[in-house]
Amino acid sequence: GKVLLTGGSGFIAAHVLDSLLDHGFQVVVTARSDEKGQRIVKSIEPDLRKFVTYVVVGNIADDGAFDEAVKSDPPFDYVIHTASPYKLHWDDPIRDCLDPAVKGTTGILKSIKAYAPSVKRVVITSSSAAVLNPPNHREVYDETSWSGVTWEEGTSDMTKTYRASKKFAEKAAWDFVASEKPNFDIATINNTYTFGPLQRSLPNLEAMNTSNHRIRDLVQGKMRDEITPTAPVFTFVDVRDVALAHVRAMMVPDAGGERFYLVSGYFTNSKIAGAVRGDQEYEKLLGDKLPSREVTEKSEDFPEDHWKFDTTKSKKMLGLEYIGLEKSVLDTVESIVNFQGQ
Ligand code: NDP
Repeated sequence: GKVLLTGGSGFIAAHVLDSLLDHGFQVVVTARSDEKGQRIVKSIEPDLRKFVTYVVVGNIADDGAFDEAVKSDPPFDYVIHTASPYKLHWDDPIRDCLDPAVKGTTGILKSIKAYAPSVKRVVITSSSAAVLNPPNHREVYDETSWSGVTWEEGTSDMTKTYRASKKFAEKAAWDFVASEKPNFDIATINNTYTFGPLQRSLPNLEAMNTSNHRIRDLVQGKMRDEITPTAPVFTFVDVRDVALAHVRAMMVPDAGGERFYLVSGYFTNSKIAGAVRGDQEYEKLLGDKLPSREVTEKSEDFPEDHWKFDTTKSKKMLGLEYIGLEKSVLDTVESIVNFQGQ
């Protein structure tokens, strides 16, 4: 089978690409420039490179951005849409976040409907941001839950912009399928805060994806004297499980029309620091950059009345087993410590 994978330069997409190659798919990734596209192909081990090509797609908020990319010979069987901005600050929340998230999603669905009739399923990277509903948290979250964030809040309060972008992008996708009745169905992956090894195509540590920043900061000594507060999200999942979930959601017939909420377990920054210090090799290597045991213990900030999560659906339908916190953190640290740049 042949897959179009958007946002190829990204952290999650890089692992989705690895998983697709493991499963024997031919993949075309989208990248914003030739330079990025070439870097992605080069990051793949030589034996597998013949299964990967790239196509340049500029700003996904532009009308018809994907019109050419979805046309391919032989044609695509599936599309996985991961591209969407994930940052903590925006110069212009609509232009830089909400528009690329929402128009990027409806845009690719329109292009597929118009120009790629062979596509059977589109898997979209949504987020737990579209599931969780702060401050009125449920006791137990699962796929039946939706964020209540409004568009107005997303445009006026930058702390809510990203959440709104994911909620409205996902909602727009389900609305598109309901009203346009295309040939394909969709599935969404609503993964929570994602840790894991950096993508091999990353040009430098400054370009690292947002959710790994706290592990980078810890490794670089920025939490030695004081561990930053964990809030607002205390749940994590490993990127390799997120990647596998995308590929399984694409292949499992019954996954069409479904959302999948992905959580491995709880974390705090203090638990992350404890995991790194608890590893003899890193304790030796990073020793004086890490917070002391005392600082680590005193910084534990897991809230007593924290919400729970029910991941039965992803385990049953996608067969996920979920990598635990220690492995996820230590593998991330390893990839940061060994990072060379290209
Ligand atoms: P990255 O920042 O590593 O990847 C984002 C990707 O989207 C990059 O390839 C980026 O391209 C592309 N992109 C962003 N804006 C645009 C745009 N306007 N036009 C074209 N391409 C664009 O982040 P992640 O890998 O973490 O995120 C990937 C997806 O996963 C997103 O949809 C995100 O919302 C979702 N997600 C992430 C979670 C996490 O904790 N990491 C949790 C839940 C969901 P470029 O490199 O050129 O900027």
